[in-house]
Amino acid sequence: MDSQDVKDDLKHVLYTREQIQEKIAELAAQIDEDYKDRDVLLVGVLKGAVMVMADLSRALHAHYTMDWMAVSSYGSGTKSSGVVRILKDLDTDLHGRDVLIVEDIIDSGLTLSWLKSNLESRGASSVEICALLRKPASVKTEIPVKYIGWDIEPEFVVGYGLDFAERYRNLDFIGTLAPHVYS
Ligand code: 5GP
Ligand code: MG
Ligand code: MG
Repeated sequence: MDSQDVKDDLKHVLYTREQIQEKIAELAAQIDEDYKDRDVLLVGVLKGAVMVMADLSRALHAHYTMDWMAVSSYGSGTKSSGVVRILKDLDTDLHGRDVLIVEDIIDSGLTLSWLKSNLESRGASSVEICALLRKPASVKTEIPVKYIGWDIEPEFVVGYGLDFAERYRNLDFIGTLAPHVYS
């Protein structure tokens, strides 16, 4: 597949590489300011948050450590059910730690809501959330998100870590898919 083929699959570009990098820098500045006296553990949620984590962590200046979780949400088709299975757990003991969950996108919010309580139950001192995107119209559970990039319409987006059938994660921008891809 060449890059021309990928372009044909997209309806339009929502956020360019430059817009994303600018937003990540803004989020990083806020996070550095808020956590300047603390050692924070960044927890990335595989696989979608890989790009956000890679860029955000390099834009941060204070001391941070990083760990990863992979979770799978049971549900019918593409809808999240809120019942979550851990596919890969953290290596880090969370007792007394300040944790910042790094996510790509919040749709129903059910996965993150479960994850936040799960990490809190392991003795973390604080658990906050940073997500690049959120779909307010789809959110089903009140979940406080301290750092948010953009609120978007409830349409399916790909790129910058976000996939459709494992494809498009490697794009450095975020876009919507052309209907011919999924119909
Ligand atoms: P939630 O539990 O918030 O409904 O599910 C969030 C997860 O669903 C995200 O971490 C992401 O993996 C997936 N997801 C939700 N909306 C989108 C979207 O528009 N595009 C892609 N590629 N994945 C999405
Ligand atoms: Mg995710
Ligand atoms: Mg996915």
